[in-house]
Amino acid sequence: MKIITKEISVDTKGAGDLIDITSQIENLLSQAKLTEGNVTVFIVGSTAGITSFEYESGLIKDMRDIYEKLAPSNKDYAHDETWGDANGFSHIRAALQGPSMTIPFCDGKLTLGTWQQIVLAEFDNRSRTRKVVLQFIGE
Ligand code: ZN
Repeated sequence: MKIITKEISVDTKGAGDLIDITSQIENLLSQAKLTEGNVTVFIVGSTAGITSFEYESGLIKDMRDIYEKLAPSNKDYAHDETWGDANGFSHIRAALQGPSMTIPFCDGKLTLGTWQQIVLAEFDNRSRTRKVVLQFIGE
């Protein structure tokens, strides 16, 4: 059993940016030369999330719309009083979405469906450089 920890860096454009990171995870899995196990995909920070959906333009728009409904960006949040950074909605969306996901792999391939991509969801109100930690555990 081996544990291999890697990270990727992703530049985002701020709230609503949804970025498909599946191929970067697949590339690191093939470099790790593991065949069976799982990978945890974890985003560092409290204003972004990791999710999975079919990465096509309609659903990208639908996801943006639902995040806006769940935690509207034009509403006042108590957090905005704390730091004055006006990103209370970003923290709420990130907390609801969650920062990580675990994906099993078999025969050296992620066990994802054909229409299932791993997506970095940026919620912050400004562009960011995101660090995503990938920890492979397997053999
Ligand atoms: Zn904040």
